[in-house]
Amino acid sequence: MTTNDPKQPTNWPSSADEPTDPALPAGEKPLSAPQPGAGVNGSSAGGSMPGQDGAGFHDQTTEEQAALARKALAKTVLVKLEDEQEGAILPGKPSPVIAVRDLTKTYFLGRKTRVQALRGVSLEVYPGEFVAIMGPSGSGKSTFMNLLGCLDRPTSGEYWLAGKLVSSLSNDQLARIRNQMLGFVFQGFNLLGRATAVKNVALPMVYSGLPRRERERRARKVLHLVGLGGRLDHKPSELSGGQQQRVAIARALVNGPSLLLADEPTGNLDSRTSVEIMGVLQALNEQGLTIVLVTHDANVAAYAKRQVGFLDGRIVRDEPVLTPRSAQEEWEALTTPPAVEGTTVSEETPE
Ligand code: ADP
Repeated sequence: MTTNDPKQPTNWPSSADEPTDPALPAGEKPLSAPQPGAGVNGSSAGGSMPGQDGAGFHDQTTEEQAALARKALAKTVLVKLEDEQEGAILPGKPSPVIAVRDLTKTYFLGRKTRVQALRGVSLEVYPGEFVAIMGPSGSGKSTFMNLLGCLDRPTSGEYWLAGKLVSSLSNDQLARIRNQMLGFVFQGFNLLGRATAVKNVALPMVYSGLPRRERERRARKVLHLVGLGGRLDHKPSELSGGQQQRVAIARALVNGPSLLLADEPTGNLDSRTSVEIMGVLQALNEQGLTIVLVTHDANVAAYAKRQVGFLDGRIVRDEPVLTPRSAQEEWEALTTPPAVEGTTVSEETPE
């Protein structure tokens, strides 16, 4: 528990220096994460996607370019994509993105049966954390995620999201909060099959009042940032599983959420593509995005910085991950061709 006042607005960086150019600024690269198509479908060797403008783990991205990419991402996605600031910048310890106090959820099935899915859960998550919610089936993970995602209301207890008490809001108010403050990534991608990547990503901005051109400009920008600049007009059926999940991640980011909620985001992906997607999430988290991920898979939870274990509707474990798995390193190992014995690499120009 913190002594912080959860009503304090979350600290957002200033948007004053945000780029206004619709195209990515010169030198801007997508996230330094495994690139879609990089061996995922056997479509390419190495770390970059054919025809794509982005740098993968294996491209010649210099430190300088990576720094530019980080800066660009922080300027674009994480400052709410040119939307107005909600809250002042405050000095000192940041207030929690999530502050949950004694949350309970009881499902009533008829008059006699009730299921206590959550039995008093308290948790705080701070900006920049990457938390994995774990636990066996029936332990309350989905119920908890539904509450965090403002898809349902608790039976009792408080839920503060980025300083707003959301646990007692009306359905309409919750829908607005979901749209403005939360990004969702699901196991099944949940993309519109007949819409292009750009249109899928632009969808959450439909209620923003922005003209369609502007919505699509922003969508393209975020697609570039997740490394899908070369697949803007592709429909889901024309993309690999990893690429579809990247579109879903871009859609989750496009309104500049305070929190990304990921429910088994690699559940439909093979192990290689899972590394790719965890690389994207880790890169986003490195830029400061707060992520809460639900998984039953300890291998996936090992990429997070903190693990929270549920059992019978209660938190039974809450500990930092001292050495999280690095998707970037794993991707490099997966895509680096083995050195051929007996050959030496010389930097000198051969005669
Ligand atoms: P998990 O995601 O960890 O598998 P859930 O949150 O889905 O766990 O479920 C926690 C408990 O709540 C389980 O006993 C489950 O049967 C029950 N439950 C979940 N959703 C409902 C519902 N809509 N109606 C009744 N019981 C539910």
